[in-house]
Formats: sequence, structure tokens, C-alpha cells
Amino acid sequence: MLVSQLLNPTLREVPAEAEVISHQLMVRAGLIRKSASGLYTFLPLGLRVLRKIETIVREEMDAKGGQEVLMPIMQPAELWKESGRWDVYGAELFRLKDRHNREFCLGPTHEEIITDLVRGEIRSYKQLPMLLYQIQNKYRDERRPRFGLMRGREFIMKDLYSFDRDEAGLHESYQKMYDAYCRIFARCGLSFRPVEADAGAIGGTGGTHEFMVLADSGENSVVYCSGCDYAANTEKSECRPQAVEDESPQGQRKLVPTPGVKTIESLSEFLAVPKTALVKSLLYQGDDKIFLVLVRGDRTLNEIKLNNALGGFVSLQLASPELVKEILGCEPGSVGPVDTPAGLMVVADEEVPLMKRAVCGANQADHHYTDVVPSRDFRIDQVLDLRMVEPGEACLKCGAPLKEARGIEVGQVFKLGTKYSKALGANFLDENGVERSCVMGCYGVGVSRTMAAAIEQNNDEFGIIWPMPIAPYQVIIVPTSNKDALVVETADKLYQELQRLGVEVVLDDRDERAGVKFKDADLVGYPIRVTLGSKTLANGQVELKERKSGETHLINIEDLSHQVK
Ligand code: ATP
Ligand code: MG
Ligand code: MG
Ligand code: MG
Repeated sequence: MLVSQLLNPTLREVPAEAEVISHQLMVRAGLIRKSASGLYTFLPLGLRVLRKIETIVREEMDAKGGQEVLMPIMQPAELWKESGRWDVYGAELFRLKDRHNREFCLGPTHEEIITDLVRGEIRSYKQLPMLLYQIQNKYRDERRPRFGLMRGREFIMKDLYSFDRDEAGLHESYQKMYDAYCRIFARCGLSFRPVEADAGAIGGTGGTHEFMVLADSGENSVVYCSGCDYAANTEKSECRPQAVEDESPQGQRKLVPTPGVKTIESLSEFLAVPKTALVKSLLYQGDDKIFLVLVRGDRTLNEIKLNNALGGFVSLQLASPELVKEILGCEPGSVGPVDTPAGLMVVADEEVPLMKRAVCGANQADHHYTDVVPSRDFRIDQVLDLRMVEPGEACLKCGAPLKEARGIEVGQVFKLGTKYSKALGANFLDENGVERSCVMGCYGVGVSRTMAAAIEQNNDEFGIIWPMPIAPYQVIIVPTSNKDALVVETADKLYQELQRLGVEVVLDDRDERAGVKFKDADLVGYPIRVTLGSKTLANGQVELKERKSGETHLINIEDLSHQVK
């Protein structure tokens, strides 16, 4: 490609609205242009980077047996109503109507569509496992679209969905994707860390990991262990075995520590209660502690799930709507910032009449209990200290101190279980002819965000430093003079030669001063610059500069193709 022909409008000044370095550099290097808040056009060089990341992602998905499909962006509301998410997803969902007044949304994710596909096409256990993926635009009306591609309202995601016969199958699929994600981000040349995470709005009852590109500008705080491989998003809450005092007015009792219980998984094992039946909630909030009170009333309670309760966003699925209303003061299924009644919420044993089943307490400042009396009306079986993991404290696995880092979430893997397959009826017949729900997982890579994250991690005062595997082009040839016929001719020859060798190369043939070309080459971040000057060329030499190290050395022109390869 000739730079004179390339649509690559570079800018010297930093765009006013760009807060983070990747946004600034992407605009300055002429990779993207904004159309509206959170909506961008990829210019040719930006698109090349994006395509390279996509290719790496695609290869790794295919290597794990993923089959690529392409699903519609526009999705019928009916499916979202079937899954229960139409009312739950909230303001992030772009909703629209067609001319017949039928409701649709623009897909922020595709669990509904894929589950609908699979329920129609999968019949037998023999067809499983099935791994289906796409690389597709996603739409989320983010509260604060910002940081350029990092948090767009339209962005590109690879989403894969796994369908298995049982939990063991899901575990295998999950592990496959986990491994594939490690390979993807390593192949992109990024420094990253998989961390344990909370499930958020996608839901599901199994485990989940986020893949974090480590960068100081990251929106996420992660802790990692200095002694073992434990790492977690600090938003993830952990149940810590600790003795706590019940300070509620009616309480005044000593509560016992629960040894060995660290996570919801181990808690579920410890109590022999299914994970879905665990009441994981903000129950009692002190200054810096959140206590989890578990009462063995799971058969009557069925399921209360406060996803991401620590962030103040809740998603509830509960058998009794009255209970939700009473506890949280909001409609069941509603999502949004809810004034969580940080206080005592207890679910009693069966013999307690319904109205007395829940106590909606408050924190120290605002006591308002209903007429239920602890120990008379209910029994507290376990009290655990549930709070966010924090840097400085001891690792739950090995005891070594936890350290902190900032991270950009570039991917996440989820064990969904049967949440969507049950809701939509994605079933198969097992060996014995028994109908079962598919056990699902979902796995997303933010392709466009990965591009931004790569820049956050790889830049200097002069511009972007692309890791070779995702650079828009590998080499730029810069003739320093347009007057010296030897320089111009040799540059052109080199350009042809490298292209013939399959090197991705651009030739800066513009009638510009060498300084301008150098600045642009550094800004765009080509990994290798080959400079041709009258003096050096007279000695049969060209200058090779590595963008990353800044090192330059002169080499004989005959050796160049060797070197570059
Ligand atoms: P975040 O916590 O940053 O809002 P998320 O957890 O909501 O992201 P997921 O639902 O896990 O996102 O989607 C999978 C991946 O899609 C994320 O790991 C991220 O890389 C990417 N992604 C999510 N939202 C955006 C966005 N608004 N712009 C660009 N990429 C995004
Ligand atoms: Mg989000
Ligand atoms: Mg997230
Ligand atoms: Mg996520």
C-alpha cells in the first residue's frame, strides 16, 4: 500500500474528548472516526487490526471444534420474554418496533437466539457437545459510552455458546474455551490474567472467569496472589470463614465461624444445598463487611439471587413475587439500582407463616423490622462473612498476601447451566430416551475492545507500539528524499520485493519531510521501519528501526529481506 493513497488522516493534537490513551491514539493515528457517542467507523488501518484479531479468535475457536454461524442483530422480543430477560435487561437494551408495532431489540448478546436455534435443531445426545459461535456487532446502550472502542454502544464481540449433555460436559467445554482464550490473548501479544468473577446480568449458577489485559488505565481492580495462581476481580465477593456478631436489635447472640467455606461453590458443598438455592444476598452490612445469612428454608424460598449485589444491581428470580417486593421494595425481575435494604433479611423454616417469612431490616441508621422475632420465628443456621476480596489480605488458597493490579476486561467465560435451555425448552433425548435440558456455557471476547486494550498496554510518548501479530502492517518503508532518484527507485524495488515475499508493507511515498514521515510512522506504530537516505544508500545500506525498542541499525540492502522475514 502506498501511504499517498491510504486513507490515514493522522493528527498532531490530542482530541479534546478522548480521556484514555488508546482513544487518543486511535483517533490521532487515523484508525477510527466517531459517528456519534459510542459509534465509530473503522478506517482502513483500524479495520486491518480488527480483522487480525478476528482471525486469531476464529482460528482458536475452530481449533476447539467451534462452528461459525451468523445470527441476526435484530431479535424478536418474544424470545426475550420467554427467557424472562425482556423486563430484566433494563435500559442497556436497545428496543425498537417494526411497522406492525411488533417489538424487537438489538442484540447485546445472543443467548436467546442461539437457544432458540438449538431447540429446533438438536434432538439427541449424539449431537452433543455442540459449540456454536459468531463474530458479530453487539449493541448496548451503555450508561456512559466512553474511552472510544473500550466502551462503545456498538461493538464487535465473538460469542460462543456450548451445549452439553451434563455438567461434566459443560466443564470440558468451559475448559476448552478457557484454554482458547489464553491462547488468543497470548497470540495477540498481550499481557493478561484470567480472574475469578461474578456472573452479572448474564446470570447462570456456575463459575465464571474474566480475562483481564493488565493496564493502569483498566476500569477493573483485580487481586492476584503472590504465592499461587489465584486471581479475582475485586468485585467478586467471597464468603470468608469468620465469627461475627449479630448486632440486630433482636440478635444479641454469638455466631459461630464456618471453617473451610470460601466460595459459593464450597458453601453449596458444605451445606449440601444446591447452589441455586443458596441465598446470596446483602443481608447485614456493617461498615466494611457484608454478612451472608443462610437459613435452610430453601424449599420454600426456592431461589433468591442477587447478582452483583455488591454493586447495587440486582436481578431477582424468586418463586414468590410478594417476597421480593417485601424484601427489596421492587418488582421481581426488575434490574437497576435498588436501594438494597442492607440489614437483616432472614428466611425462616417452613412452619413460619408466609407473611413472617421475611424480615426486611435496615442498617444501624434505619431500623425497621417487621413483626418477626428471631429465634422465635426463625432460626439462623449459618452466618458467614461475605465481602469483596481485597488487596493486602491473605489468599484464601495459600495464605500469601494478595496484590492489586488494574485490568481491562477483554473476555469472559460463563457456565450458564440450564437457565436458558430450561426457559426456552432446549432439550435432547439421552441414551435412555429421557428428555433433558442442554447444559450451556457462553463465552465472549470483546474483539474491538481488545484492540483498544492492546494500545493501552503498548504505547509511548510517540504513539502506538503494535505487537507484531496484530499490527496493521508489519513494515513501513520511508524514503527520506523524493528528489534522489536512487532513493526513490530503491524504495520502490524494496517495496515490490517485500510484497513478493509476503511481508505486509507500506511505502511512504508522500512528498513530505522525513521528520513528518517518521512522526507518522511512530504514531501509527508499524513494528519495523526501513529508512532509505542518500548517504547510507550510497554505501549500499538502509536503516532498520524496531518500533518497540527504538533500536536502529544499518544493514546491507541485500540482507534486508532476510532480516525482515
Ligand atoms: P463491562 O463489565 O466492561 O461492562 P460486560 O461484563 O458487560 O463488560 P460481557 O457481557 O461479559 O461484558 O461481554 C463480553 C465481552 O464483550 C467483554 O468481556 C468485553 O470485552 C466486551 N464488551 C462488553 N461491553 C462492551 C462495550 N460496551 N464496548 C466494547 N466491548 C464491550
Ligand atoms: Mg457491561
Ligand atoms: Mg464485566
Ligand atoms: Mg463480562
